[in-house]
Amino acid sequence: MSRRRQIYEGKAKILYEGPEPGTLIQYFKDDATANNAEKRGTINGKGVINNRISEHVFTRLSHIGIPTHFIRRLNMREQLVRQVEIIPLEVVLRNVAAGSLSKRLGIEEGEPLPHTLIEYYYKDDALGDPMVAEEHIACFNWASHEEMHDISSMAIRINDFLVGMFAGINIRLVDFKLEFGRLYDGDYSRVILADEISPDGCRLWDMATGEKLDKDRFRRDMGGEEEAYREVARRLGLLQGEDNQPGEVLDLSSHRSRLRGTPPKK
Ligand code: UDP
Repeated sequence: MSRRRQIYEGKAKILYEGPEPGTLIQYFKDDATANNAEKRGTINGKGVINNRISEHVFTRLSHIGIPTHFIRRLNMREQLVRQVEIIPLEVVLRNVAAGSLSKRLGIEEGEPLPHTLIEYYYKDDALGDPMVAEEHIACFNWASHEEMHDISSMAIRINDFLVGMFAGINIRLVDFKLEFGRLYDGDYSRVILADEISPDGCRLWDMATGEKLDKDRFRRDMGGEEEAYREVARRLGLLQGEDNQPGEVLDLSSHRSRLRGTPPKK
């Protein structure tokens, strides 16, 4: 059997040719980068956890009518997805000030925003993914007016749904990044959700303690990233053989996973 063809290798994933035309296999690596790849490292087991979390989130989103590229998970690190033409935009949704928003505008991290912000960044590593306005997107034809309408309305629905989903497991969805792609059907195309949704591209804070359960632990050299990613998966009910009760408090202050939990209510 010949080795399958690699289509693309990104910072956290590899795309291989899929078993049927129009499909790809998305392989999740343990590699992590931050600050436009200035910082590089690995988070042990991240690929396995992100594959499961993203499967779960995309499946839940499809149940509320969001079209996605996800077809099915194949194994621990791989999922079968529809091949799309990626729209070169990172779509960021924000509910609470953090990260680059706080830095750019001098708003304290943790300040709740009066309403959800949607921002667009042009996907170009060499340029450091600059923030762009809808005017630039139209001017340089990165996406049509109609596509932007679909993208923004899907993004808002996704945010509303995920805020509730994470609140149900005592996690505040501070901000996150989405990517969309074009699925062609003859001369026509429609926009669907692509890429992944995982703690790599979300800010997730424990509601009780404010503990960070996402890639900021890696970006900011806090340690405890493996435990944090596992904790998100555990609360979502995705880790077999571990109890998945919400409401427990994870203490990552010593970079070890210590649960100071109240016993589950019967
Ligand atoms: N994000 C991402 N990929 C990027 C940039 C941002 O997944 O290339 C996510 C990030 O994890 C966060 C949100 O988008 O949840 C907003 O990121 P921000 O603009 O604050 O940038 P950062 O502080 O991460 O550089």
